Amino acid sequence: MDTRLDQIAHARSHLPQLPAIEAARRELAALDTDIVNARTTAGDVRREVAKSEQDVQLVRDRAARNQARLDAGQGSAKDLQALQHELASLARRQSELEDLELEVMERSEALDAKVVQLDADREELAARLATLESERDAALADLAAEETKVGSGRADIVAGIGAELAELYEKIRASSGGLAAAELKHRRCGGCRLELNNVDLSRIRSAAPDEVVRCEECRRIMIRTAESGL
Ligand SMILES: [Zn+2]
Repeated sequence: MDTRLDQIAHARSHLPQLPAIEAARRELAALDTDIVNARTTAGDVRREVAKSEQDVQLVRDRAARNQARLDAGQGSAKDLQALQHELASLARRQSELEDLELEVMERSEALDAKVVQLDADREELAARLATLESERDAALADLAAEETKVGSGRADIVAGIGAELAELYEKIRASSGGLAAAELKHRRCGGCRLELNNVDLSRIRSAAPDEVVRCEECRRIMIRTAESGL
């Protein structure tokens, strides 16, 4: 029972979900940083798009005003020629600015798509983390239930063997790596695995059935059975 209780305690701190949960949490924190950065960049570029649209509109408006003056045909031939000249240069400028606008818009769309993708990744990761945590909780609940059951069986036994033997058992357990009692099997101590000599064997053979017999080598309590080889 104590071995099982030790195993339960070990299992509790070594659940396979624990490192996976740790990794998922780290991944989630890194993803949150990525999302903040991506949103900031996407916002900056959206403002660039708006600025770019404004630049194009300014040139368009000016070209429209020039065109209207040209269509009205007022002013000297020289003035009209100058207007025509400026219109040609504005058209080139507009074309350049529209290329820039297109480039910035494409960049903005790519960044918006990246934000959407990161949000989806985060959602998926958060769901995976939740699954791992509920698996961990279920495993912990199983271990706790078993621990309670084994613990109550142990308490019954401790109550039945008396305080003195229970105390001796605990003392040996503390100094023997958790194993205080072991089966004497085929003349070997189940704790240290050493074979008993004939003197010890004959002493044990003549001991009363309820006498607490201990290994001379490791001092553990030896449990006699039909297979002890006595
Ligand atoms: Zn021993």
